[in-house]
Amino acid sequence: MFRNLIVLLTLCLTVASIGMAQVQQTKGNYVDKFRQMDEIWPTANSYRTAGGEPGHEYWQQRADYKINVTLDEKKHRIEGNVEITYHNNSPDTLRFLWVQLDQNRFNKNSMQHKTATYNAPDSLKGFDGSPARLSLGQLRQQQLMEDRDFGFEINNVSQGGNELKHTVVGTKMRVDLPMPLKSGESTSFAVDYAFNIIESDVMGGRGGYEHFPDDEIDGGGYLYEMSQWYPRMGAYTDYEAWTAKEFLGSGEFTQEFGNFDVTLTVPADHVVAATGELQNMNDVMTSEQLERWEEAKTAVRPVYIVTMEEAIENEKEGTNDTKTWHFAAENVRDFAWASSRKFAWDAKGYDQGGSVRPHVMAMSYFPKEGGELWEKYSTEVVIHTMEVYSRVSFEYPYPVAISVNGPVGGMEYPMITFNGPRTILNDDGTRTYTMAEKEFLIGVVIHEVGHFYFPMIVNSDERQWTWMDEGLNSYLDGVAGREWDYDWANSEPSDIIDYMKSQNQVPIMTQSDSVLRLGPNAYTKPATSLNILREVILGRDLFDFAFKEYSRRWMFKRPTPSDFFRTMEEASGVDLDWFWRGWYYTTDHVDISLDHIYQMRMDTKDPDIDFGRRRDENNMKPKSLYVTRNEEEGMRSWVQRNRDVRDFHDENDQFTVTNKERNEYIDFLDGLDPRERREFERAVDEDKNYYVLEFSNQGGLVMPILIEFTFTDGSTEFMNIPAEIWRRNHLSVKKLFVFDKEVERVELDPDWYTADTNVENNHYPRRIIPSRIEAYKASPRTGLKRRNVMHDMKTELKEPKNENR
Ligand SMILES: [Zn+2]
Repeated sequence: MFRNLIVLLTLCLTVASIGMAQVQQTKGNYVDKFRQMDEIWPTANSYRTAGGEPGHEYWQQRADYKINVTLDEKKHRIEGNVEITYHNNSPDTLRFLWVQLDQNRFNKNSMQHKTATYNAPDSLKGFDGSPARLSLGQLRQQQLMEDRDFGFEINNVSQGGNELKHTVVGTKMRVDLPMPLKSGESTSFAVDYAFNIIESDVMGGRGGYEHFPDDEIDGGGYLYEMSQWYPRMGAYTDYEAWTAKEFLGSGEFTQEFGNFDVTLTVPADHVVAATGELQNMNDVMTSEQLERWEEAKTAVRPVYIVTMEEAIENEKEGTNDTKTWHFAAENVRDFAWASSRKFAWDAKGYDQGGSVRPHVMAMSYFPKEGGELWEKYSTEVVIHTMEVYSRVSFEYPYPVAISVNGPVGGMEYPMITFNGPRTILNDDGTRTYTMAEKEFLIGVVIHEVGHFYFPMIVNSDERQWTWMDEGLNSYLDGVAGREWDYDWANSEPSDIIDYMKSQNQVPIMTQSDSVLRLGPNAYTKPATSLNILREVILGRDLFDFAFKEYSRRWMFKRPTPSDFFRTMEEASGVDLDWFWRGWYYTTDHVDISLDHIYQMRMDTKDPDIDFGRRRDENNMKPKSLYVTRNEEEGMRSWVQRNRDVRDFHDENDQFTVTNKERNEYIDFLDGLDPRERREFERAVDEDKNYYVLEFSNQGGLVMPILIEFTFTDGSTEFMNIPAEIWRRNHLSVKKLFVFDKEVERVELDPDWYTADTNVENNHYPRRIIPSRIEAYKASPRTGLKRRNVMHDMKTELKEPKNENR
């Protein structure tokens, strides 16, 4: 009864952890890790094919924007209006539209703010436990939200001068249409809006302003990075209709493509960077800057359009005048910009070749705080990233590629990225940077510029699946990073081991806001899995072909996870359902153990040879301890003492050969047909070494078995046994190997390329595990009652350094 209960529980857990669509196991413990994904993946249709390609009736919506806003630097506020033209390419009739109001996330009534949980220490059990903690940053955020209203102020929603009924639901707004929007039709509406810009360092987020209190200008300087700054159309898709998921901070954005025509009115001394091409260069740039711009197009190294000296001079005083910068961008899924009087601006042309966009301008905008680090590397890394990504996916289709230094650590938008690394100001007034900051700059620029491709062009649904852009992009930034410098360490399989073994995790295939530990789950694990898929399972040729095919199929379109999985299989020609199932749909880890090796020699069947061998083998067994001790004591047995009393059995043993066995051997040989006899005699003649290796799957994830044999002559041989070896038994398998040479030892996955979580059971024979031990001194005991109050009472009081205390 008890035993049956445990079996039942185990089965339920197994089934639940794999998914509801799983065919259920009813008897025994056989689990089919190779079960096909059709059970879980959506049925192919005319929008998305079974091969993972856009179908013959594939459609997506389109939204074009005309935006005019003013940046009020005194109030840190955006005011303006947007006109959205929405094209209904779906086969459906729409009676209302959903618009994304992402700034509402920062409102104190937002779902994100209300549902943010607090991590108290486990020992928080009233006043006796350790005190809970609130950082000064958290305090500052709480106070700022009390003092200032954030989120969009929607002042008017109208169509042709008539107000439209609209309803704000958290970070979204429903706009009711006066007439249903039929398939193939378009509609336009306008929104007057404003919002207070968040201070990025206080509120976090993907944009905002940064305050530089030490700048010479009255009140300090400011730098603005503007994102999610206009009402954006919600996505309407074939697989989900209108996206209903609230913006909670983690799950990013589900976007439609469109054209943008944007005017940004900012203080006249600001320099503006934005998605798209600057339309009024002559209005906002000096003739000298325009000359430098021309020079930069063909320069070998980046050329300053606004030099650092000019920027430092510019940031010293402000102005009440304004200037309007006009940008246009075609076929983008979003628009972001940055503005500051602190910006230096450099540029260098990138000759990509090809027919799509032969020449691209790579540019960087950075304040003096970015300094030499940015001057040397930012724009060069932008170009390096495009070189690698365009090779593995498709030609970069946009006219500019930008890296901006500001308060945001790393964030991507079409054609523009926000990147955080900075130099350190030393006491002598010089600026230097650390090795870590240099690595951060190169790494973050590669990563964010990489996002120009995924998801800004291969437009995956970020609100649903963080891994589809972050995982793929983390895999690719590793490719580009290693081509920048071979010391690059990123998504090495051995780095993911601790996470793979951890208990607090969910499968990669989890909606973005529900993911536990987003970093390893949505970035590192998928990136590592793709590295393993490329280097161990498919090989570079098949992987690269399939990955490029996926990129080509889905550029400027919206892929779902199954489109990626299916394309990788269809284009590589290799069934990978087991791989997606293990790495993406479960929390299994890799731990393959080499449990036993049996060494065997072929029997000759000739009793005059085999019986002698068996006698030798029998003699190799240790002697009875009893007999050994008797001999050591000098004891002699009766038979030894009475040697004259002997018979037949003293001269022969169980291995003595008679003609009976010899005749059986002759009969055996006579019974073989000539071909069988040749084969048998050859095997006997060659007398090879036969080994049976017994493997067990301790981690659950089925994977290829990588085996390195080392022979007694010192030579080695490597074998890659495909994962399909586990198809009839995912828990343990045996395999026969035949060698001329004798095996001395065997190691599984010697180069640590499968993220095997326990390398010790990969050695046969087991090895001594190298480790370290450290001597330590016990620390004195502490606690309130152990304070030396009698002595501390004599301490003198200090003068405070900070007068504004
Ligand atoms: Zn990213």
